[in-house]
Amino acid sequence: MGRSSKDKRDIYYRLAKEEGWRARSAFKLLQLDEEFNLFKGVSRAVDLCAAPGSWSQVLSRKLRGKDKSEEVKIVAVDLQAMAPLPGVTQIQGDITKISTAQEIIRHFEGQSADLVVCDGAPDVTGLHDVDEYIQAQLLLAALNITTHVLKPGGNFVAKIFRGKDVTLLYSQLKIFFSSVTCAKPRSSRNSSIEAFVVCQNYSPPEGYVPNMSNPLLDHSYDVDFNQLEGPNRIIVPFLACGDLSAFDSDRTYPLQLDSSKEYQYLPPTQPPIRPPYQQACQLRKNNLLAKEDSPSGALDDTLSALDL
Ligand code: SAM
Repeated sequence: MGRSSKDKRDIYYRLAKEEGWRARSAFKLLQLDEEFNLFKGVSRAVDLCAAPGSWSQVLSRKLRGKDKSEEVKIVAVDLQAMAPLPGVTQIQGDITKISTAQEIIRHFEGQSADLVVCDGAPDVTGLHDVDEYIQAQLLLAALNITTHVLKPGGNFVAKIFRGKDVTLLYSQLKIFFSSVTCAKPRSSRNSSIEAFVVCQNYSPPEGYVPNMSNPLLDHSYDVDFNQLEGPNRIIVPFLACGDLSAFDSDRTYPLQLDSSKEYQYLPPTQPPIRPPYQQACQLRKNNLLAKEDSPSGALDDTLSALDL
């Protein structure tokens, strides 16, 4: 396979390099913003699970504008180190930890955020139930930290896997936000169970005190509408977003999109600085990697199914 084969199979991967985004995920946030106008009036934003940083790049370009406004504060959090970005403060930390929430608040000098986004994904195992469960836990951790840092009326956007227990997550989110929508940008493959919850107008229950316990297990916030069956069942609208004329992420496009221009391979905008797969690549280069038991390509198939 040549270096251009991924460019051919994945139009958003190719466009990301052309437009200088660190990852194709940038288009997901851009298309969500097209639909929900997420960035309007935002001057303090938090990007949870931010590495390698394409969502932070979107925030930096969109919020700071051409005049690179110093008023705007953006905090990016990830377990992994991330190459620096203009106007973005990085915290290398775990979103399940209270200390991370405290560090974000310190950076905002006691003020709350207008917007929290989270594109968090765990390392996938290929066991769908386990992956969905861990993703749900990560989303709840993001919700927890959001309750510490988001201002009332603020918005929260997060990746969700539309697995069989997704209704329970919607119910939890509905406790904290007056509007919850499940959105699928054009740049997120249809073949992937990934979607994004767009939670608008943060309005926690009266007397709610933010904590880092798992709200799924906290029955003190069970309210009448938190039912999964019957007339009280919460139906969250599902919205396909992004201009319909935008590229379809499930299609393969010819390499020469513009007949007046010759196709030119571009390297990634910002290669990961310390990727978790570095050791495996080294071992494979030296032919020291243990042989797979599973049929070849099984891991690639799993990663592609999750759109990572
Ligand atoms: N939005 C990013 C972008 O546009 O470049 C891509 C995010 S990537 C799909 C998922 C990230 O979640 C990984 O970098 C991973 O390190 C991070 N992550 C997973 N669990 C985390 C945790 N508990 N705390 C902080 N980051 C976490």
